[in-house]
Amino acid sequence: MAAEIRENKCVVLKNRPGVESQPNDSNFALEKREVQPCNEGEILVKTLYLSVDPYMRCRMNEETGSSYLTPWPLGDPPTGGGVGQVIQSKSQNFKEGDIVESFLWPWQELVVFSGENPRLVKEESPYLCLKPSLLLGIVGITGLTSYIGIREKAHINSGSNQAMVISGAAGACGMAAGQIAKLDGCGMVIGICGTDEKCRYLTEELNFDFAINYKTTKDVAKQIQTLCPAGIDVYFDNVGGEISNEVIRCMNQNSHIVLCGQISVYNKDVPYPPPLPADIQTILSNKNITRDRFLVLNYMEKFPDAKKQLEAWVREGKVKNRETVVEGLENTGRAFVAMMSGGNIGKQVVRVADLTQ
Ligand code: NDP
Repeated sequence: MAAEIRENKCVVLKNRPGVESQPNDSNFALEKREVQPCNEGEILVKTLYLSVDPYMRCRMNEETGSSYLTPWPLGDPPTGGGVGQVIQSKSQNFKEGDIVESFLWPWQELVVFSGENPRLVKEESPYLCLKPSLLLGIVGITGLTSYIGIREKAHINSGSNQAMVISGAAGACGMAAGQIAKLDGCGMVIGICGTDEKCRYLTEELNFDFAINYKTTKDVAKQIQTLCPAGIDVYFDNVGGEISNEVIRCMNQNSHIVLCGQISVYNKDVPYPPPLPADIQTILSNKNITRDRFLVLNYMEKFPDAKKQLEAWVREGKVKNRETVVEGLENTGRAFVAMMSGGNIGKQVVRVADLTQ
């Protein structure tokens, strides 16, 4: 009997937004292609969830400006974080039903992977196999970024009553960073984000001490000084730009910045990290504020232990998780565009198919 060739829906990159523009839905298109049955050594996987992330904006450009990111080719499905379930296996390494994940998952419903693909990881935790979207967020790269970023760069000393500000606080990295900082003994956590609903989420559900809506607060620095007259000891920076300048104006001598991301400039043609204004650079020098570049992928040897800790915290209810879930592969581009302009609370994911139990 001839092996079955299945129809496969894919989202492809249709055109590039240009380095100085916001991405939009029309940069992406839905196509129907075919998926061949898998050959010896291969597995056929159905995509369960896809992750959309800010770094993808760089991959939409002809040049990403980064040594570790390549541009997405036009006409092909973009790749990024994804998790799926094996539906056919001709590899000894996987069996039907296994949950697998990869950083290089194409935006399509069905994917054939080599069973020897070094970037394809089989999930072993029964808990996470039942909640696969967590692998893209709080127990995946964004949770790891916050955990490792704090442990490596924040210098939190439990009990010393430090104050921390987090920008992009209601997003995937931000919500994790605030909770982890508290668990590590940070005295006060202030979140900055773009809506009142997000502010309420941070203070009422995640136990942040204060939250500031940067879109409606005229003078963010003044507000921080009012909330925390003793000054800021740690700044977890997800956004850069003017918000960060305001926070840096409130920082103490010998304080620390976790330079996580600079999303406010991802639609601009500037180097990463973008140069700081001269007066802000002077504050950094005069106050001896550390601001090292931080890239979670440089700490991969720490991933297994960090992942175990994050899973334990989530299971124990010590770290709460929230996701903004967009339904359907065809809406992946839309989900990315929405996340880039603040449409998400918590981790933005796309649900492509249901888990088969
Ligand atoms: P989020 O879930 O935080 O989503 C992005 C959020 O950014 C939006 O919801 C929006 O929230 C905010 N935002 C968008 N534009 C602006 C702007 N101009 N000014 C201020 N805020 C803005 O994304 P992630 O948690 O995945 O990523 C957060 C940051 O962490 C990014 O900069 C990303 O590049 C970085 N990152 C870094 C890693 C590393 O290894 N260093 C690894 C992973 C992520 P709002 O409504 O508040 O505006």
